[in-house]
Amino acid sequence: MFIGATWRNSREQLGTLAILTRLLPYITHERARRMSKKRVVYEGKAKILYEGPEPGTLIQYFKDDATAFNAQKKAVLDGKGVLNNRISEFMMTRLGAVGIPTHFIRRLNMREQLIKKVEIIPLEVVVRNIAAGTLSTRLGIEEGQVLPRPMVEFYFKDDALGDPLVTEEHIAAFGWAGPQEYDDLISLALRVNDFMSGLFAAVGIRLVDFKLEFGRYFEGDSEIPRILLADEISPDSCRLWDFETGEKLDKDRFRRDLGGVTEAYAEVARRLGIIKESGETDNVVSFTGGK
Ligand code: C5P
Repeated sequence: MFIGATWRNSREQLGTLAILTRLLPYITHERARRMSKKRVVYEGKAKILYEGPEPGTLIQYFKDDATAFNAQKKAVLDGKGVLNNRISEFMMTRLGAVGIPTHFIRRLNMREQLIKKVEIIPLEVVVRNIAAGTLSTRLGIEEGQVLPRPMVEFYFKDDALGDPLVTEEHIAAFGWAGPQEYDDLISLALRVNDFMSGLFAAVGIRLVDFKLEFGRYFEGDSEIPRILLADEISPDSCRLWDFETGEKLDKDRFRRDLGGVTEAYAEVARRLGIIKESGETDNVVSFTGGK
């Protein structure tokens, strides 16, 4: 009797186990499905924006995808998204602490951060300290030449047109930003440049140039928006050269097929103290393949 009951119990247990085993892939799949049920608001080349948990918020997800030359060149670089999430968090937090208003609320996990939902101003604001990239090619100025002063440029955000350089005249005439907003964009961009140039110089990195994006944030029922620094700040959007060797620690490694792209991004993170010295890992970044 006892033996029979035990036998029946274990048979039932085995049956349950078998059912569970068969269900497990579906349970995992269902979990994944529920996780990805977040509504995609926008998918860009390197990031996805999902609807956030509260009104007025979004979740910014950093992909490993790398693109260059208006997406003509593409690759997946394992761990890039994890590093950019951390580096951008670091920059946005530090900039926020010195009074630059940003969209960043908090990091959620290895690849996601919670941000304020803004209406993106359709301009890429580029600040340059040293000639490189399109400034060098457009004006024939030798790469590496220190510019007489930091320069702020505006590009119209339009992939189909290849993000063309635009002037104040275009911005005003087409209403991409108002006159006050235009002045604010320049002064914010220069403040970011001052702060970041110092931050990078302290860790032996020259901030050559970088691109910023800004958005309008409507607080509560206010009809007058505040301008917030948005998007990301990472080696994808900056040119960073080692002070001593001139070695490139940014996306130019990908654009120019120099190799060691994520290693260079990790070096930036290491110098900023975001991840530990090489060889050591912390519980935050195991940057290859981290999800
Ligand atoms: O290509 P260009 O020299 O105009 O780039 C200036 C800076 O802006 C570089 O740091 C580059 O990485 C960044 N940029 C960007 N996204 C773009 C264009 C430029 O992050 N669409």
